[in-house]
Amino acid sequence: MSEYVIIGDGIAGSSAAETLREEEPDASITVITDEGEPLYNRILIKEHAKGKLPEAPISIHDESWYDERDITLSLDTHVTSIDVDGKTIHTHEGEDISYDKLLVATGGTPTQLPVEQSDADGVYHFWTFQDARGIKEAAEAAEAGVAVGAGLLGIDFAAVMGAQDVEGKYLMRGDRWWRYALSADGAEIIHDGLREMGVEPVFDSGVDHFEVNDDGHVTAAVDPNGERYACDFAGVAIGLTFNTEFLRGTGIERDGGIAVDEYMQTGVDDVYAAGDITRFYDTLIGQEAQNGSWGSAKEQGRVAAVNMAADDEAEGFEWVSSYSITHFDFPFLSFGHPTIGDEYVEQRYSDTEWRRVALQDGRVVGGVLIGDLSQQRPLKQLMRDQRDLRGQTDRLLDEQIDLDELAPAQD
Ligand SMILES: Cc1cc2nc3c(=O)[nH]c(=O)nc-3n(C[C@H](O)[C@H](O)[C@H](O)COP(=O)(O)OP(=O)(O)OC[C@H]3O[C@@H](n4cnc5c(N)ncnc54)[C@H](O)[C@@H]3O)c2cc1C
Repeated sequence: MSEYVIIGDGIAGSSAAETLREEEPDASITVITDEGEPLYNRILIKEHAKGKLPEAPISIHDESWYDERDITLSLDTHVTSIDVDGKTIHTHEGEDISYDKLLVATGGTPTQLPVEQSDADGVYHFWTFQDARGIKEAAEAAEAGVAVGAGLLGIDFAAVMGAQDVEGKYLMRGDRWWRYALSADGAEIIHDGLREMGVEPVFDSGVDHFEVNDDGHVTAAVDPNGERYACDFAGVAIGLTFNTEFLRGTGIERDGGIAVDEYMQTGVDDVYAAGDITRFYDTLIGQEAQNGSWGSAKEQGRVAAVNMAADDEAEGFEWVSSYSITHFDFPFLSFGHPTIGDEYVEQRYSDTEWRRVALQDGRVVGGVLIGDLSQQRPLKQLMRDQRDLRGQTDRLLDEQIDLDELAPAQD
């Protein structure tokens, strides 16, 4: 009987556990998490922090879900190291757990700003449900706040401030929000949306240091230009540091993440990885890539489990990821890898509608849609098909994309 151990009970780890049980009714399956609660919907915790959603619907599994499937769940258990030769993991409580096959699905932890007082009271990072509970309480009591980090997670802090009536300033380093994926035209729609929710975007800014009072609570953010923004709440979302500390010396970790092939295998025998932590070989674009999205993590967990159970390279991961923002009156969706590519086509259609498609060697690799998401299906299909669209890229901006009029799918 095989012994499977999964580190991490986020969506990647949990989906792997579910699939392993389906594939192997008799195997021993253990899921270990350092959080105090089983799987919940990480995408929805921002709605809780905004004060718009109670706790109950955010939870996905309770402990009975694991019992019913005969899966051993260890909550509040931090894995401190792995012995890949002895096939054993060690926990902070001194327990040794042996495995035949191991899945690492430990995701990341928000990176702290490398500035003075960035760990002061009132400065928040957003990853866990527990974080969201604290952010909700703090935002409800706050009068003025700043958000830092002009990306997909930073905007959640802006939305929390908007929803909780905190007078908000959104400090961005460059001249626009998510400058790696949006041009000035697209970003302007987001900036207008932020202003509408009562949050002022501040450009060419950022945080040089925070100021605190005698109790150690944040009182202001001072930007590199010396501008001072008084605040009793600050949200920092400048990126993730992947949780690989316990892998040091094992050869599993690389460049701060875990490299896997399309079967989710690491370079170490019988060790797999899935979810945000992976740098995976993306067969669609023919290069290494990283996703930070729920759907992708879930699919990677499933694919990893299928391959772990099959004892073989049974199924490769092939997926066009997407990430939506639902804070505004207009919808927003990014798909694939919108920040890579050697060519972009884009168009603004109205005050709240914009589209950008990123291409590499004439093939769609990602994009961003604002206001009108109706063309996500054909665009994702083109990415899946890897059609060579050289000479036809303007057609990607048609209001209705006609797949039959474009170059055929590649073999
Ligand atoms: C506020 C917020 C909003 C988001 N919004 C969206 C969205 O709208 N759309 C979207 O697609 N994605 C969104 N995401 C991203 C999405 O939630 C992640 O991509 C996804 O949850 C990653 O899942 P994962 O299983 O790879 O990692 P995680 O969910 O991070 O799970 C990893 C787990 O491993 C545990 N762990 C780490 N180290 C150890 C250790 N040493 N021992 C034991 N346990 C350990 C962690 O505590 C954690 O529970 C959002 C994320 C956040 C935080």
